[in-house]
Amino acid sequence: MEIFDMREFDGHELVVFGHDARTRLRAIIAIHSTALGPAAGGCRMWPYATTAEAVADVLRLSRGMSYKNAMAALPFGGGKAVIIGDSRKAKTPELFEAFGRLVDSLGGRYVTAEDVGTTTTDMSNVARATRYVAGLGAAPGQAGGDPGPKTALGVYLGIKAAVRFRLGRAELKGVRIAIQGLGGVGRHLCGLLAAEGAELFVADVHPPAVEQAREQFKAHSVAVEELLALDVDVLSPCALGAVLNARSIPRLRARIVAGAANNQLAHDEDGAALQAAGILYAPDYVINAGGIISVSREYCGGATEAQVIADIQGIPARLTEIFERARRENRPTNQIADQMARERLGQPARALVA
Ligand code: NAD
Repeated sequence: MEIFDMREFDGHELVVFGHDARTRLRAIIAIHSTALGPAAGGCRMWPYATTAEAVADVLRLSRGMSYKNAMAALPFGGGKAVIIGDSRKAKTPELFEAFGRLVDSLGGRYVTAEDVGTTTTDMSNVARATRYVAGLGAAPGQAGGDPGPKTALGVYLGIKAAVRFRLGRAELKGVRIAIQGLGGVGRHLCGLLAAEGAELFVADVHPPAVEQAREQFKAHSVAVEELLALDVDVLSPCALGAVLNARSIPRLRARIVAGAANNQLAHDEDGAALQAAGILYAPDYVINAGGIISVSREYCGGATEAQVIADIQGIPARLTEIFERARRENRPTNQIADQMARERLGQPARALVA
């Protein structure tokens, strides 16, 4: 595997492969940039088919964290970890403790937290071996805990900003929103949107999650393969990445794409395809920063939940700035966001070209 030649390699500072024979840990940590502080980003547990697939994912995700943390004005760089394995079958406390030792061996250059497939319980096990971890249980009123609901809050506020900008509507009552994925973020997002009278259409590969959304939020259940092409105002991808690609974009009928999933665009040029189709895209790492805002406040210590919420309320203004600049310069929103992030990282805009 030629890591330095991979499309996803973007001058990453460090890539570490960790193995522990006793617990069968196979993990990769990628540090994209520490220009703005220690690299912070979650740990994903996923049954990658090949090591190359895992490397590509951790490289892409860690670059996304550099951009996300820079845009949220956090004192952190970008990093990410992946554990190769099935989170429904292969988890043990010892596995996460071993992962904690790997994190600890980097001496604080990388700080971990939850991502897809990992939970606050897993992070408590990581914390047995390292202090470079956040997303642990929080006392009432204090910053911290599961970042999912905080991410959902930011996405909800971001959807409102996009609806105001694109549709000229100040309220979500009657706005039709399709949500792909009803996990830690998606189901909380449904609650916030339903409380404001939005009409929800949902899909998840896990049927009980759909049933719950139908009962709790009067959501319409849609087949997974049909959700993306639904005639709605907003499509909110809250499952996995690369859902916006050359195959899916021509089928989209939503006027806005605004969701929590990381790396929604399969390639940078898919942002231009969305713009050409007249679809307003809320750059993923700007709209989904609520979780890392919470995690970083928790890690730095001494913050209240109210401070975290106040920080998250900055997300819609940042998005609106991107939307306005994209309209003024007639450029895709993802390009504008990448340029702003790279400027903050002190990196040349050259890497904008995919
Ligand atoms: P999760 O694992 O709790 O939930 C994901 C849900 O998507 C699951 O219910 C799963 O069954 C479903 N799903 C998987 N494939 C699907 C498909 N093809 N169609 C429909 N549903 C599908 O994850 P989460 O914490 O809710 O995160 C969701 C997304 O948001 C991920 O991309 C994650 O990286 C991103 N994100 C999460 C956070 C956070 O704080 N949790 C922060 C930033 C970004």
